[in-house]
Amino acid sequence: MTFYGPQIDINTIDHEVHMTEALREAQAALERGDRPVGCVIVHDGRIVERGSNREFTTRSKFEHTKTRALRSCAPYLFEHSNGCILYTTVEPCIMCLGTIVMANIRYVVYGTADPVAGGTAMYSNVDYVRRSIRGCYIGRILADQSERLQVTFAQHKVLRPSPQRKGREST
Ligand SMILES: [Zn+2]
Repeated sequence: MTFYGPQIDINTIDHEVHMTEALREAQAALERGDRPVGCVIVHDGRIVERGSNREFTTRSKFEHTKTRALRSCAPYLFEHSNGCILYTTVEPCIMCLGTIVMANIRYVVYGTADPVAGGTAMYSNVDYVRRSIRGCYIGRILADQSERLQVTFAQHKVLRPSPQRKGREST
């Protein structure tokens, strides 16, 4: 298969450094009452965008972490997307994975898997998605820390149920 754009040797990169920054975003989301999911977009070793979930504070089911971050730096991605790596504390959902593919992001690194709404099935079964991601769809990077945030959020929801928090979880 022919790839266009820069090739990244994904095995030479310290993913935990960048995932730690994504976890900071997830922590900030937790503290303001949103689902604790964070991401960073990295190009040439530098963070070019940060994002976190804002569904509850905006009361919008579309304010997912990855979709928000990609939209925020769209002009930059228009020029550099195929050299960027997206780090996210939770596996992308199908909406975010679709947006990642359409943004021409080729490398995705995530923390904890999302067996309910995660895009693994879409990644595995849709040729276009798999080709677009260039075979770099790796997880379990600092997953324990991400999972702890999810547990804290779930406990908080049990203690203080809110009508705004009904519906499916999302990333
Ligand atoms: Zn999503």
